[in-house]
Amino acid sequence: MKLSGPAIPEKWQPAYEAHLQALESKVAVVAAWLLLITVFIYQFSHPLRNIHSSDLLGFEFLFRSPVILASIVTLLGHYSGSFRWPSRYFLRAMGLSVMAMILSMLMLYLTSNSAGLYQISNGLVISFFGVSVLAVRGLREWILLFLLPLGLFAIAAVSLGIAFTDVLPLFFDPLVMMVIGIIVMEALRRVLTSEFEARQTLGEMAATDQLTGLLNRRAIWPLLNHELQHAQRAGTPFSLILGDLDLFKKVNDTYGHDAGDLVLQETARRLEGALRRQDALCRWGGEELLILLPDTDSTGALEAAEKLRASMADSAITAGDHRIHQTISLGVASFQHGDDIDAVVSRADEALYRAKHKGRNRVEVAGSGNAMPPVSY
Ligand code: GH3
Ligand code: MG
Ligand code: MG
Repeated sequence: MKLSGPAIPEKWQPAYEAHLQALESKVAVVAAWLLLITVFIYQFSHPLRNIHSSDLLGFEFLFRSPVILASIVTLLGHYSGSFRWPSRYFLRAMGLSVMAMILSMLMLYLTSNSAGLYQISNGLVISFFGVSVLAVRGLREWILLFLLPLGLFAIAAVSLGIAFTDVLPLFFDPLVMMVIGIIVMEALRRVLTSEFEARQTLGEMAATDQLTGLLNRRAIWPLLNHELQHAQRAGTPFSLILGDLDLFKKVNDTYGHDAGDLVLQETARRLEGALRRQDALCRWGGEELLILLPDTDSTGALEAAEKLRASMADSAITAGDHRIHQTISLGVASFQHGDDIDAVVSRADEALYRAKHKGRNRVEVAGSGNAMPPVSY
């Protein structure tokens, strides 16, 4: 019931919400089929269940019809894919209609056919368990699905003069079942939550470069492809910047590998600080970085690259007793019609080579200078 247990970290909230919605969507479809089947079975099985009250069949059908309707709408929404409402609303509609159905029937049998009451008590047991399963989100859903209808029922019972002593025995087994349902659901919810967290942690580890905490080369590919598709479909621009630390080998040779690592970490911090939220910064290779700038043409990308360059050149990096003046060279390339990702990266690479060739600590834009021979550095 989400009463205790570890909370999901803030950064995973959107993913957790998506995870919950996917779960709710599955539960909704299974619940809709189950409800349709059980409602029809109960509607047409009176002789089998030894109930002789055909005069109540019409009423029963009336009470069952919201359940049938909610289930059919849920299935239509799911299979046609045409409804955009979250599954949560379908679950609520089904849960509330089940509670309304079973409590209305209880009221009907209390007032007109007390011989059939034990059947209704069975129905309450099944309904209470089923509805506790629908409260996927925990306490708030449970209050809405259980307490609200039960409260209304209590008010109606009092105003109809029904004695509590008549009703209470009928609720004993159903309430026990409800508690069992809640405990089972809570246990399941905890298992699902910890599985979600484990999956997120693994995913994050697989996507992150250990030294700098930046995205690694594998993790940026989906973002690059997503941006490429968006550009091809909507005609929006995007740009890539390839950066390479200048004479970094010398830093390692002079100050040691640990100082080199520190410089890489500080570089990641500075570049990240100079970028917008929507930009993606990745460790492309040893001391090479790739930056994806969504919705950015070459003018904007040049500006961004200049900011990145300045963030490195403007102040020295402190590593122990040393102050290291580390600069970066950057090559900028923007998406052009007909490009794939490799084509844009390769133009950024050529521009970067030019920046190195022209003396380092500078930005070059692809297609705005002399052609250079193939690159290796
Ligand atoms: P240039 O300006 O031409 O790029 O010169 P450079 O010295 O940076 O050239 P190069 O690309 O050949 O050297 C890159 C160096 O980066 C070599 C490698 O040892 C170092 N390096 C790569 N990854 C790491 C790392 O994780 N930590 C440290 N400390 N050094 C690294
Ligand atoms: Mg390099
Ligand atoms: Mg280098």
